[in-house]
Amino acid sequence: MTQENTKQSFRSLASIELLEHLSSEEKSRLANIEQMYRFHANTYYLSLIDWEDPGDPIRRLIIPDVGELEQWGSFDPSGEENFTIMPGVEHKYDSTVLLLVSNVCAGICRYCFRKRVFISRHGSIVKDLDGAVRYIQNHPEITNVLLTGGDPLILSTPDLQEIINPILEIEHVRILRIGSKIPAFNPFRIIQDPDLFDLIRRCDQNDKCVYLMTHFDHPRELTAPAKTAIRALRAAGAVLANQTPMIRGINDDADVLAALFRDLSFIGIPPYYVFQCRPASGNKHLAVPIEEAYRIFEEARSKVSGLGKRARFVMSHLTGKIEIIGLDDAHVYMKYHRSSQTELDSKFMILKRNPHACWFDDYDEVVKDSKMRNNYYSYGPE
Ligand code: SF4
Repeated sequence: MTQENTKQSFRSLASIELLEHLSSEEKSRLANIEQMYRFHANTYYLSLIDWEDPGDPIRRLIIPDVGELEQWGSFDPSGEENFTIMPGVEHKYDSTVLLLVSNVCAGICRYCFRKRVFISRHGSIVKDLDGAVRYIQNHPEITNVLLTGGDPLILSTPDLQEIINPILEIEHVRILRIGSKIPAFNPFRIIQDPDLFDLIRRCDQNDKCVYLMTHFDHPRELTAPAKTAIRALRAAGAVLANQTPMIRGINDDADVLAALFRDLSFIGIPPYYVFQCRPASGNKHLAVPIEEAYRIFEEARSKVSGLGKRARFVMSHLTGKIEIIGLDDAHVYMKYHRSSQTELDSKFMILKRNPHACWFDDYDEVVKDSKMRNNYYSYGPE
């Protein structure tokens, strides 16, 4: 860790009015978008933008765009409400519970599928931690607890500790996941906080594994401070894995995505999921149709070594996590990677192609489907 890294400071910006690189015309054009979906960034992340390039991917990720005004999608595109047990506690898949512990992020990604959390700032986060812990205690099938939000690492380490301590005491919880874009948005939050590393070490000593689910979308986010933060997290015992949505103008390019996979693998982060962009309100201009996205994903994977190509391309649908596994001239092939309904688990589907489909619901025709039986798929009579 260099002296330069530890001393770095930056400012948080919660209004586009404060962006010195935007003209006053641009600011007034974007003003009502900010009213609808909020804006938040910091001077470190903004310094990664090439302001001379109107199509700069980092700019696209963080600066509002008039495309957000187009009516499309919903505020809960994956139907999280359906699996909400109590405010901020979601239980969709048997083994995993999500705790939404914060309604703040160090920046707001324009494609965010949880915009609702930032809009109704008190709506969706955990209010009754004791109740949440009791719920987990009473469900021995829960082996994974995922802290998410907002961004859990926006909380101070003592606040995180208060949440994590009672979870560590639950014997059947073996994995604590922290989903965070802080390593990209503000790596100094990590580098400058030795207590965070102690917390991770303590989890390890309690025989719990901490997975830090990073959220790097573009190779340019993997700066020297970001890499320093990642190395420090790994040294403390955290296991890392990266998830990113495929977003138009950010990483919908096989070379860019391949560079991301490659650079992640070089610093010990397995690419884990590439998500189909969720049909969240304001996301139409950011979505890549599924079949195009699949081609880009496969081409990117073809350019990297085995360690870089571990990602799966999935869609977080209301009914479960659906993996897109193939395409031919007429069909797209999908499989349930996880589902809350046992009858859907591992179900394999052949659908008639629709090059405009941006979500599972846009496919009209399931040509064949089959549940796995005796470890193989059969379409004939049982
Ligand atoms: S870091 Fe995650 S929760 Fe925060 S704005 Fe980005 S996508 Fe949304």
